[in-house]
Amino acid sequence: MPVITFEGKEYHCKEGETVLESLTRHGVLIPSACHSGVCQTCITKAVKGTPPVESQKGLKDTLADQNYFLACICKPEEDLELALADVSKAIEATITEKTLLNESVVRIRLQTEQPLDYIAGQFINVKHPETGVTRSYSLASLPRDGFLELHVKRVPDGHVSGYFHDDAALGDKLSIMGPVGDCFYTDRDLDQPLLLVGVGTGLAPLHGILRDALVRGHRGEIHLFHASLATQGLYYTDELSALAAKNEQVHYIPCVLHGDAPHGGEQGDLQQVLKKSKPDLKGWRVYVCGDPAIVNGLKQACFMSGANMTDIYSDPFVFDVTP
Ligand SMILES: Cc1cc2nc3c(=O)[nH]c(=O)nc-3n(C[C@H](O)[C@H](O)[C@H](O)COP(=O)(O)OP(=O)(O)OC[C@H]3O[C@@H](n4cnc5c(N)ncnc54)[C@H](O)[C@@H]3O)c2cc1C
Repeated sequence: MPVITFEGKEYHCKEGETVLESLTRHGVLIPSACHSGVCQTCITKAVKGTPPVESQKGLKDTLADQNYFLACICKPEEDLELALADVSKAIEATITEKTLLNESVVRIRLQTEQPLDYIAGQFINVKHPETGVTRSYSLASLPRDGFLELHVKRVPDGHVSGYFHDDAALGDKLSIMGPVGDCFYTDRDLDQPLLLVGVGTGLAPLHGILRDALVRGHRGEIHLFHASLATQGLYYTDELSALAAKNEQVHYIPCVLHGDAPHGGEQGDLQQVLKKSKPDLKGWRVYVCGDPAIVNGLKQACFMSGANMTDIYSDPFVFDVTP
């Protein structure tokens, strides 16, 4: 079995174990969050040995070429000597606004000393100020807004979402890393119709993507579906209705599974609603964000309706299920 060398000590991997699992089993804690190869918090460098290519999924070519990899999805095939990556430098951010958007979603605005270089729709990794536990949150803002905006849903017994809802106060200093992710708008075809589908706080990246597309002069139709179990789970309805009223190519469709849909919205299962409303997605560009199971189902459904896989961008909000 491969041996991992880290900070001068050797650790033996078990069959089928990832580098992160092996280090954790030996009591060695390195930064990590989603444990699914998405958030890139556990980015690590192999200073000796070659990491498997699958463990470099989603990393920039320049990083992969330098033997960086994600420890949470790396099942080593040979001995590796590791060094923690210095590519994702943490910067300090201060909470400047905290507003409840509905009964379970809080909007947090952050100010950084140096502007963060990001594209709307990407996400950042945020450390709990006391415990250092790290979680990913999508950016709902545009760089020109001058603040970073997060929409955080309360998860029962959630460590970091609980902090944001119950304990976070204006002036709190947080350590943030990033930006990360490739779910963002590019102006490669200004006339392509765009379908944006968000579940719950999946609206956060789409809010940035929609506004970014308009700022960059997108001319094609933009249809935004924001889904929730019931109307109480929706938010930004007035703001998005106003945006649609001001830009005739923007269509905002709030969707609820239970109860009456708001004005101009739809009631029913999101996949069925989309199938009925957008049966032919040939030529469309699609963005799907939020709950991982729903996102994966919708990606599949959009592909079946004719969207090209390379035109489907997604941000599944994967979460760690390890006890
Ligand atoms: C790329 C990316 C972007 C994200 N963007 C956002 C965002 O913009 N807004 C947002 O609110 N969240 C977002 N998330 C999810 C976020 O990172 C956290 O997973 C979430 O806030 C829960 O963290 P926690 O520390 O509060 O809960 P934890 O302490 O990690 O979890 C507490 C318990 O709840 C379970 N759990 C955790 N999350 C869920 C869930 N969603 N549904 C059901 N059970 C759950 C855990 O398995 C655990 O048992 C994103 C995730 C990723 C990977």
